[in-house]
Amino acid sequence: MQSTVPATFKTSGAPVTPPAPPVDAWRSMTIGTMATAPIHELLTTLGVRLVEVDPGELAADGIVGYFSGRVGDAEIQIERSLPQADRESVVRDLLARIRPEEQTYTKRSLTGPRLRPAMVGGKPVHIECPSWCYLDHVAENEGFLVDVYHCGDTVSLMAPRMGGAAQPVLHARLNADSFGTDVAHQAPHVIVDDETEFAHMTPEQAREFASNLEAFAAQVRAMAEQAAGR
Ligand SMILES: [Zn+2]
Repeated sequence: MQSTVPATFKTSGAPVTPPAPPVDAWRSMTIGTMATAPIHELLTTLGVRLVEVDPGELAADGIVGYFSGRVGDAEIQIERSLPQADRESVVRDLLARIRPEEQTYTKRSLTGPRLRPAMVGGKPVHIECPSWCYLDHVAENEGFLVDVYHCGDTVSLMAPRMGGAAQPVLHARLNADSFGTDVAHQAPHVIVDDETEFAHMTPEQAREFASNLEAFAAQVRAMAEQAAGR
């Protein structure tokens, strides 16, 4: 049985060394630590309060867990009635999203993404993965959680040409850097690229781009008719 006295405390109770500031502790944390360290240790180290709310308070909105705050000062809310078996994965998942910057995150139960196995830094974990993501997160085996991203199938715009086979000139795909440090790229978005330039588009921007493509297509068709008419 392990001693419950923190190793950093002398028998007198005086701290030997002050604990690392939460942000430094967070930076030095590996995905392995996040996945395997006891929950109460992670909460203490990262300065997160675990608040148990009344049964139904979150579920009424389809929420299974709620996170708000930043490293050193944050709160996770779960329902008191959340089964012990689910509790750990929900809290770990919310803890994995903690950043030095203030943010809120809602983990939904029914409409939420599926949990899929992944390898991160050589360690097996489970991550939330949107239904459109086709990546094999085990095979990808990214070194760090911040490098894990979700990616949909690529569609390509083909250009036929004289004296050769048709070649793609544009590609588009769904993407989400869910664990990345660039907040704007965390939500699902569309990437359009010509293999040199990569344009990340919000859903609204992707709609605008699609309209531009339709106008472009109409002009190309008109040119084709002109060329055909000589
Ligand atoms: Zn994925």
